[in-house]
Amino acid sequence: MDLINNNYFVGDVQLTDVANEFDTPVYVYDANKIVSQYKRLKNAFKPLDIKIKYACKALNNTAILKLLLNEGSGLDTVSINEVKLGLRAGFKPDEIIFTPNCVSINEIKEAVELGVHINIDNISILEQFGALYGNTVPCCIRINPHIMAGGNSKISTGHIDSKFGISIYQLRHVSRINQTYNMLINGLHMHTGSDILDTNVFLQGAEILFDAAKDFKDLQFIDFGSGFKVAYKENDVTTDIEELGKLLGDRFINFCNDYGRKLELWFEPGKFLVSESGYFLVKANVIKQTTATVFVGVDSGLNHLIRPMLYDSYHEIINISNPSGKQRIYTVVGNICETDTFGWDRKLNEVHEGDVLCFKNAGAYGITMASNYNARQKPAEVLIYNKKAHLIRKREKLEDLYANEVEVEL
Ligand SMILES: *Cc1c(COP(=O)(O)O)cnc(C)c1O
Repeated sequence: MDLINNNYFVGDVQLTDVANEFDTPVYVYDANKIVSQYKRLKNAFKPLDIKIKYACKALNNTAILKLLLNEGSGLDTVSINEVKLGLRAGFKPDEIIFTPNCVSINEIKEAVELGVHINIDNISILEQFGALYGNTVPCCIRINPHIMAGGNSKISTGHIDSKFGISIYQLRHVSRINQTYNMLINGLHMHTGSDILDTNVFLQGAEILFDAAKDFKDLQFIDFGSGFKVAYKENDVTTDIEELGKLLGDRFINFCNDYGRKLELWFEPGKFLVSESGYFLVKANVIKQTTATVFVGVDSGLNHLIRPMLYDSYHEIINISNPSGKQRIYTVVGNICETDTFGWDRKLNEVHEGDVLCFKNAGAYGITMASNYNARQKPAEVLIYNKKAHLIRKREKLEDLYANEVEVEL
């Protein structure tokens, strides 16, 4: 987002024009940013040719999936419907990995029939999978290395109490099941959570997986999941992707030499690829002065962007209607009958009713976590691609809210 001649632009498109054309609230994504993040991650590991499996739970609009497909990305999916959305977008089955948690064996069977890679997250399913398929269908094992990482306890998944993955301390159990059913385990995986700052956390996890790999003779890939931290504020510390690429890349090459074969190195970034590409535009409905603060009440709420309330996440807010206005302190809240504060005591250029505010870092876990709470429609989505704004999802209509209701005589 650039300020040019007192107007905010994404690429060649003026953001206030997007708000005027498509109305608010609206999610806007910058295709260039997604592509450049993809390339940055790829390049950081050169000469290794890493495989990127985009974690599409972050943002699953088909246009975004196709954009990444065109770059050569694969897909990381966590539900059978995400698998189906990926196939529909054009991903080949063997470019999709299915990494669900606590789904039924039936959902896994359905994914096997669709031909995608299966990543197994618990002993019970591993046994059932072995009994069903033996060595006829390969699978990957999700290992919980028990490293504490992540910005918020709700988004860290590697710790000892976490429901994710098979504990590293249960590997002997895994080996017994593997032998009993003569299984074909072709991948090892870990995903320790979101917002990992320290490259050492990755390297520690890597050592644990490399060590575990000795017990598995049929490996084709190691999947290090994700958790790359992106900047939410100016001067935010972020994961140093280039440093990680150098250190982990070199270590991986050594590991392959010891293992005796070249394996593929996979990652599953979600936030890293799409977070910064997204801008959520809302309108200031009401300016409300109270004894405590000045509230700006906007035409959205936790029904559209829940991260600030759920994870205490910080999203920078900018008044794009008044780029040169005097700065004042506001508390920005939603219009939902629930406390839905987007930001306390934020310095914004003077806000007038009708101004358009822009939330940054809205590409990941924005619309995919949206709901219809308070009977409000989900917002529209717009992709800025090839210098133009394209509508990629229509705003929901009133009828959508009751489309699946079944009428009874009352
Ligand atoms: C959510 C998730 C990711 C992506 O995490 P980000 O923090 O968005 O990069 C990757 N892998 C798995 C298995 C996930 O559940």
